[in-house]
Amino acid sequence: MDAVSVARKVAEREFSAEEYIQQVLERIKKVEPKVNAFITVNKNAIEQARSLDRKIRDGKDAGPLAGVAVGIKDNISTKGIRTTCASKMLDNYVPPYDATVVKQLQDAGAVIVGKVNLDEFAMGSTTEFSRHGPTRNPWDTSRVPGGSSGGSAASVAALECAVSLGSDTGGSVRCPASFCSVVGLKPTYGLVSRFGLVSYANSLEQVGPVGRTVADVASVLDVISGFDERDHTTAAGKQSYGAGKKRPLRVGLVKEFIEGADEQVSKIIYDAVNTLAKEGCKCEEASLPSVKYALASYYTIAMAEASSNLARYDNMRYGFDASPDGYEWNSYFSHTRGNFGEEVKRRIITGSYVLSSGYYGKYYLKAQQVRSIIRKELKSLFGKFDVLAGPTMPILPFKIGEKLDDPLKMYLVDVDTVVANLAAVPAISVPAGFAAGLPVGLQLMADEFCEQTLFDAAGVFESAANVRGSPDL
Ligand code: GLN
Repeated sequence: MDAVSVARKVAEREFSAEEYIQQVLERIKKVEPKVNAFITVNKNAIEQARSLDRKIRDGKDAGPLAGVAVGIKDNISTKGIRTTCASKMLDNYVPPYDATVVKQLQDAGAVIVGKVNLDEFAMGSTTEFSRHGPTRNPWDTSRVPGGSSGGSAASVAALECAVSLGSDTGGSVRCPASFCSVVGLKPTYGLVSRFGLVSYANSLEQVGPVGRTVADVASVLDVISGFDERDHTTAAGKQSYGAGKKRPLRVGLVKEFIEGADEQVSKIIYDAVNTLAKEGCKCEEASLPSVKYALASYYTIAMAEASSNLARYDNMRYGFDASPDGYEWNSYFSHTRGNFGEEVKRRIITGSYVLSSGYYGKYYLKAQQVRSIIRKELKSLFGKFDVLAGPTMPILPFKIGEKLDDPLKMYLVDVDTVVANLAAVPAISVPAGFAAGLPVGLQLMADEFCEQTLFDAAGVFESAANVRGSPDL
């Protein structure tokens, strides 16, 4: 059941939060052997549902997400529930505090059913780089669910929770949303607090909601957005968000996105734009010429920030203690930091390189220049269009293992998603259809703080296209 319905029915006591959460936990037990979306199931979920039921019986306000089962990506801090980032480095780390977004969800009545799988420290596009094994795509379990928030999207698609939170640095909410045929939003930079989100690349990332409907994603954003005194990058631009309203939007189909996609994907995206046109939108072609530099710029900046952020994992303050007797600092440091996975190590090394003297101007500075050009190009397009459309992913969900040996091939799949992160604008992925039985997502981008415009466009598309259904599991 969708989150909006659950909250209403629990508040009206049509069923109790406890009954519902019990069923969710049974579902998790049943499908997890096939999907592997969870790293940790919350042992206190039933107890939390019960206390919510008591609150409702006492006539107190149960909150806009009363009883709703939520999955939280395992790089978002949960007080008393281990938060591993799918890394050996944080294998038994139990945070002493909740992320702001977690607290906001709980205050709204949501019940956290567990922590969901990701690529180690959110670095990847498939959820294969996890210490807990790959998550599988619920539509075809031989394929990847996308990443890095693969657990967030797969758990929602597999009906293991109503909604979930992921994080999106370069596409990590939208990529798995697209591959698993669910809705996923990357909010405007600064709309949602990052306090308690384990940093990968701070200047690019946001926490974002995943759900099976646009209305569910809007209702979660409504709860988690707004200024937070614990994160000075949050802004005061919050509105109240809701399911979409139909209006004649100006839609630009980004030429460079559609030209770079597989034919099976682009066909569905053309159909999607036609659907929007039939619903009264004015659709035209748009062009973002510097998009060809976006991927190089993104990976340079993301790895530079990662190399600095991950310097804190020295196993002196967090995680297991591997100090040999009478240790010497340098050897101790490499001994412990050797425990990062291959992909994370690759990024720390590359990130240090692009920041090193002699190469800083050639790589890091250039990447920042490209970033501002992309931002300018996008800004000028938003003078002409309300939303920009294209495929979320240029290809269909591929087989597990297919791109593991070639990092560049893996990075290339992010070509359409990184643009929104570089430009700080919001972007949503909404199910657009199926090709060869596999999901295709439509990506829509809007100007900063225009999330409601995205919900309007995505909502109109969702009800007209009627791409529904859940996978057989
Ligand atoms: N796939 C991209 C990367 O590996 C994006 C990851 C993310 O958004 N967290 O950097």
